[in-house]
Amino acid sequence: PLVLGIETSCDETGVGIVRGQTLLADAVASSVDEHARFGGVVPEVASRAHLEAMVPTIERACETAGIRLDDVDAISVTSGPGLVGALLVGVAAAKSLALGLGKPLYAVNHLAAHVAVDQLEHGPLPEPCLAMLVSGGHSSLLLVEDVTGEIDPLGSTIDDAAGEAFDKVARLLGLPFPGGPHIDRAARSGSSVAIDFPRGLTTRRDLERHRFDFSFSGLKTAVARWVEARERSGEPVPVEDVAASFQEAVCDVLVRKALDAAGDRGVEHLLIGGGVAANSRLRAMAEERAAAKGIRVRVPRPGLCTDNGAMVAALGSEMVSRGRAPSGLDVPADSSLPVTVVQQ
Ligand code: ATP
Ligand code: MG
Ligand code: FE
Repeated sequence: PLVLGIETSCDETGVGIVRGQTLLADAVASSVDEHARFGGVVPEVASRAHLEAMVPTIERACETAGIRLDDVDAISVTSGPGLVGALLVGVAAAKSLALGLGKPLYAVNHLAAHVAVDQLEHGPLPEPCLAMLVSGGHSSLLLVEDVTGEIDPLGSTIDDAAGEAFDKVARLLGLPFPGGPHIDRAARSGSSVAIDFPRGLTTRRDLERHRFDFSFSGLKTAVARWVEARERSGEPVPVEDVAASFQEAVCDVLVRKALDAAGDRGVEHLLIGGGVAANSRLRAMAEERAAAKGIRVRVPRPGLCTDNGAMVAALGSEMVSRGRAPSGLDVPADSSLPVTVVQQ
């Protein structure tokens, strides 16, 4: 099927077009620069930017794919979770298209779309698989039995998301927002063993209750204390070493818990998605440690890891292929849609 997918859950206006699981277009307009001076995404600003970018982004995607809107077989859209005002713009646009073109609408879960996108690059999803989603808003371990219908959450962060930790630590180090890519770059010339930062929820006691959960706020505080102590003593802050040691602590916990979960559930494939999956150290560490356990790792290319429309189109296409019934045209946006609800 030829499917057009719309993503507006946060600050990216994404419109993707796929035929089956072949990517034809992935147009993204981001309002990230408008949020940079606030150090985080401002919901009202994001909603207005989506409104302005929606039609041009749809046009750009159709042009790139070389299709006319009439050609599409279905429209899919992220209906949650995310910022409610931002979601509403995408959902309204998708409903209008579905109604106007007389095509079925699939309102889908953003997290499931982050998993489904990998098919565009690496072929059919191995199911069941263990998915680790790490972004600015989420850090979760999911057992994916069927990406169009059965996803079980095994654990998630109990405080900050992994991407949020990258962004906050970057700010502390005077690096621009969003901080992930800047930490990644700075870490390349630093030492990952220079500072021994804490690994959240890994003591034996913590593991009893939180085996597959994450915690990053203690790590962020530890970095803040370390940097403050340095500044007080008048010594320069070794930004590269702090970045590398912090990044190592985050990746160590993520990979350790993901592989533990995969082993526990007896699945042979680990899929990593979300913006933080673009991290070079995370990718390398996951590959290395998974190989030792006979687990295969799949990570989409960085451009498909951050929010985009292609992932929504990929999931919509899979919905159509597997014969799922379309969503009603009265489907609401749900800012806290649970991952167990793959389609609304
Ligand atoms: P959501 O959580 O709803 O998916 P989001 O906009 O936060 O929304 P993404 O666009 O998937 O999610 O990811 C953005 C996050 O990924 C930011 O926190 C950013 O710092 C982080 N990130 C991007 N590239 C890297 C990288 N190379 N290393 C570490 N973190 C990164
Ligand atoms: Mg984003
Ligand atoms: Fe996302």
